[in-house]
Amino acid sequence: MNKLNAKIPDGPLTDKWTNHKAKLRLVNPANRRKLDIIVVGTGLAGSSAASTLGELGYNVKVFCYQDSPRRAHSVAAQGGINAAKNYKNDNDSIYRLFYDMIKGGDFRAREANVYRAAEVSNLVIDHYTALGVPFARDYGGLIENRSFGGVQVSRTFYAKGQTGQQCLIGAYSALSRQIEKGTVTIYPRREMMDLVVIDGKARGIITRNLITGEIERHSAHAVVLATGGYGTIYYLSTLALNSNGSAAWRAHKRGALFANPSFVQIHPTSIPVLNDHQCKLTLMSESLRNDGRVWVPKTKGDPRKPNEIPEDERDYYLERRYPAFGNLVPRDVASRAAKERCDAGYGVGPTGLSVYLDFRDAIQKKGRKYIEENYGNLFEMYEKITGESPYEVPMRIYPAGHYTMGGLWVDYNLMTTIPGLYAIGEANFSDHGANRLGASSLMQTSGDGYFILPYTIADYLADEIKTPKIPTSTPEFDAAEKEVKDRIEKLMSINGTETATSFHKRLGKIMWDYCGMVRNEEGLKKALTLLDELKDEFWKNLKVPDTVNELNQELEKANRVADFLELGKLMVYDALNRKESCGAHFREESQTETGEAKRDDENYSYVAAWEFTGDGKEPILHKEELKFEYVKLQERSYK
Ligand SMILES: Cc1cc2nc3c(=O)[nH]c(=O)nc-3n(C[C@H](O)[C@H](O)[C@H](O)COP(=O)(O)OP(=O)(O)OC[C@H]3O[C@@H](n4cnc5c(N)ncnc54)[C@H](O)[C@@H]3O)c2cc1C
Repeated sequence: MNKLNAKIPDGPLTDKWTNHKAKLRLVNPANRRKLDIIVVGTGLAGSSAASTLGELGYNVKVFCYQDSPRRAHSVAAQGGINAAKNYKNDNDSIYRLFYDMIKGGDFRAREANVYRAAEVSNLVIDHYTALGVPFARDYGGLIENRSFGGVQVSRTFYAKGQTGQQCLIGAYSALSRQIEKGTVTIYPRREMMDLVVIDGKARGIITRNLITGEIERHSAHAVVLATGGYGTIYYLSTLALNSNGSAAWRAHKRGALFANPSFVQIHPTSIPVLNDHQCKLTLMSESLRNDGRVWVPKTKGDPRKPNEIPEDERDYYLERRYPAFGNLVPRDVASRAAKERCDAGYGVGPTGLSVYLDFRDAIQKKGRKYIEENYGNLFEMYEKITGESPYEVPMRIYPAGHYTMGGLWVDYNLMTTIPGLYAIGEANFSDHGANRLGASSLMQTSGDGYFILPYTIADYLADEIKTPKIPTSTPEFDAAEKEVKDRIEKLMSINGTETATSFHKRLGKIMWDYCGMVRNEEGLKKALTLLDELKDEFWKNLKVPDTVNELNQELEKANRVADFLELGKLMVYDALNRKESCGAHFREESQTETGEAKRDDENYSYVAAWEFTGDGKEPILHKEELKFEYVKLQERSYK
């Protein structure tokens, strides 16, 4: 049985959202006060949704595991946020932003959703400006923008290299206002451990108080997951250390389908792995490719320092291979090109697993002051970590796990396959197909939270106005709480010898080696076996020190790694199923003569949405066919 109805409105692409909004039902202000909404997550998606729903008058409860909403991972976003303002008069438009995203995602995203994301992008920028976000300004006072990968116009708005931080401060201020007004209650240091489904509808969550260990019940008329991405499954990634996939995974196990789980973006410009004891990789924003030039020496294993290598002995391989886009090719293309050069023996640095990102020419042409103004904090960050100043020596960069295009399947209203459960921001799969273009995540997370979910959720809640407060004393809450407690007990009682971190590291290596930048059938099959073995070992030999009723970060990790072990397997099933290459999903068996991703539109033009069928059982695949009425499917070329 196909459970998927994307509910894409009829009518021309440009009118779908306008017409749909006009038909969505409203909840009158007096009734809103009687309705409870849980929002899990306080990144740009969660904060924007919670503050907007609070302002509308609903009773909102918002959860995060950090001590402050302001520490959500969104704070790390550096380079910028897209909007189709056409401020540079370079012929940008909503259609062009839509087209760039569809093409960038290698034609594996839903047209209607992507068009809407582009449409609301302009509202998002206006809203953040109104909230006081200090975007860079141009001479005339308009907010300034710059180019990002995969596009030929300038549409990325930014606040130095701190765009996420500044936007989150804006979103957090608005959230704080609602907390002060009493429409939003904030629950920091809480981890959602499970979703409670009653009579088929999402009705609440079970949380663990991370300070006291207490297991708590929270009910609502609807639940919104804004819990971010799961790129940390690779252990080493550009994400915040605590980012994880558990909330989405628990929802999946309760019935929410998981879409395109293997679509993971590997970002081309991370600081390379320096040693075996690292737990995190640091991103160098894509914005740097506006002025930095990527190269490797033309001679394999060239022992000279970069500044000693003359111009004609440098291979600016992105400019050579992709003359139209040069250093601004999309991330998946840039990542694979770096890997290709390093695998061929041209990589630089102690491990040979890095390439240069060089600002010499930009400093000469535009001056050091310009570079400082635009990228100063990124340069400082790089120097602090590596001990080298990018003003003097080229940066060394290498691809790293970054962003998950996959996530909970949602329909056009951002509702999952569980009625009353919504997923927004990076937690859903909706807008980026098989590869996300830079600066379009902040745009999507904020668009979802400010301008889409608040309208669509009302349509669902309009049927709930007669439903009284949901009690937490139901058998469903009892059962979910018991399962959570039993699992914690089990994790604590294994008492083996290996830490959760150690298991995570081993898991990350399997995922990186077999389900990372390139994949093939043999490797993926091997990964299935390795993941089963690792999971067995985990449940036999895990060591969680200390006790349950206190702050216990080892327990938190163990809980998340246990879920990652299962989610990893779903990613592998998904990657195995999709025998084509598309976007970031590169199946070695499916490539063009020049080594580019080769799609198979006839057989794989669909969203793969997976149904959980029980622990240890194979998931069931549901397909949402993708129809392209407004763009012509073509080979994605940046040449
Ligand atoms: C280094 C870096 C730089 C980036 N730069 C850019 C950029 O310049 N432009 C761009 O568009 N995108 C960028 N991205 C991507 C972008 O930052 C993210 O996709 C986006 O911020 C995700 O926002 P979100 O609100 O969906 O989730 P997040 O910001 O990840 O927030 C998740 C929230 O969910 C909460 N949470 C999660 N699980 C649970 C649970 N079980 N219980 C309770 N709470 C939970 C967390 O506490 C947190 O509050 C970057 C990503 C990285 C890693």
